[in-house]
Amino acid sequence: MATVFDRFMPASKEFFDKMRANGVMHFDVDPTVEVWKMRDNVWSMLAPSPGMGGDAWMHLIVGPEKAMLIDTGFGIGNLRGLVEELTDKPIVLVNTHFHGDHAFGNYQFEAAYIHKYDAPYLEDQMDPAARARMVPAAKPDSFYKDEDLVPVKPYEIIPIEEGYTFDLGGGYEMEVVHLPGHAPGGIGIIDKQNRILFSGDAIVSTPTMISGSAAGQHNSEFMTVTAFRDQLEKLVPKMDEFDVLYPGHAILEYPKAAVTDMLELCNQIIADPDSQDEVSESMRGMAKLKVVGLASIAYSDERI
Ligand SMILES: [Zn+2]
Repeated sequence: MATVFDRFMPASKEFFDKMRANGVMHFDVDPTVEVWKMRDNVWSMLAPSPGMGGDAWMHLIVGPEKAMLIDTGFGIGNLRGLVEELTDKPIVLVNTHFHGDHAFGNYQFEAAYIHKYDAPYLEDQMDPAARARMVPAAKPDSFYKDEDLVPVKPYEIIPIEEGYTFDLGGGYEMEVVHLPGHAPGGIGIIDKQNRILFSGDAIVSTPTMISGSAAGQHNSEFMTVTAFRDQLEKLVPKMDEFDVLYPGHAILEYPKAAVTDMLELCNQIIADPDSQDEVSESMRGMAKLKVVGLASIAYSDERI
């Protein structure tokens, strides 16, 4: 059976073919990560997937006094060494959400900011068994060796919420917006200088996954399409503060019209959960897929 991602793959492939044709940087310190300089002070780094999720974006924004690292990928290779080649400024690490394809590299850092609803999950991920369940031991044909796995190490978790603003020096502000649904504490971060919304897995060019069961998980009441819709209504009036989206996977410089399309899509799903375009096999069970313009959601009935 097809997956919810299939129909979006040609656009992703075209995007990455063009990115690689335009020139990609590699660094010996972390050779499997592909690096592109997207703006004067913005680097986007693509972490290859060991089999869970797709290849994941990590973004580095260098401000006048501090640099913000958004997400840390799978915890394979020396991300910290790579980031320290790109900037000598102190690093402020922020996770868009707790999922292992965005946070398993946190162990290389002393502290991570994350939305308060996702903080308990990072606590759970201090257990080496949690990482081992998600990132498999290296096989002979893996792109990594076991010694490339970052050792699991405790670090400080700093909970934040909607409206929290980071100052990277000289008035360079990065503002947090809460975008739940995919994860209870999912966030977007607005870079007001570059007019970019770093949107995590909440708004991506492939389907936003709000599927599977949320039963028994931390803050599961924020793992719904309705919780997502309620926050999108607050984001729309702020759309004059950014021009494009930099998501956690797939296409970058994604048009911001995806925000209003996503709000319309959420409202359509809530109004009629059975109006889906198709039913597919998702990463976590069966999912209904619905598309409006630039927005798509793979959802299950219990997550509406
Ligand atoms: Zn995710």
